[in-house]
Amino acid sequence: MHLSLSETSVQGTSAQTDRMSSQMTQTPTGHGEFAEYLHSFKLKDSQCCTCDRAKNQDVMHGFEDCVIFARDRVVVEIGMGTRISRRNFLETS
Ligand SMILES: [Zn+2]
Repeated sequence: MHLSLSETSVQGTSAQTDRMSSQMTQTPTGHGEFAEYLHSFKLKDSQCCTCDRAKNQDVMHGFEDCVIFARDRVVVEIGMGTRISRRNFLETS
């Protein structure tokens, strides 16, 4: 699944946009260092997240509820001025 941020969910200034890391731009497309993505290329044994073996570590898990990414999520949410949630994304495929 590929996701893109809806236009209404990104209202940062150009200075905020300049600070976006390559990881932040890769993540919405599902191309990050998430276990699910690495597992699809047989680069990781499991697609489960280490925070909860019952959950797949995919993009939305990282964005919405993974405790491992909690600090990064808060930093991004403060920068964007909004909470990250599934409804802020459009499915593109
Ligand atoms: Zn997790």
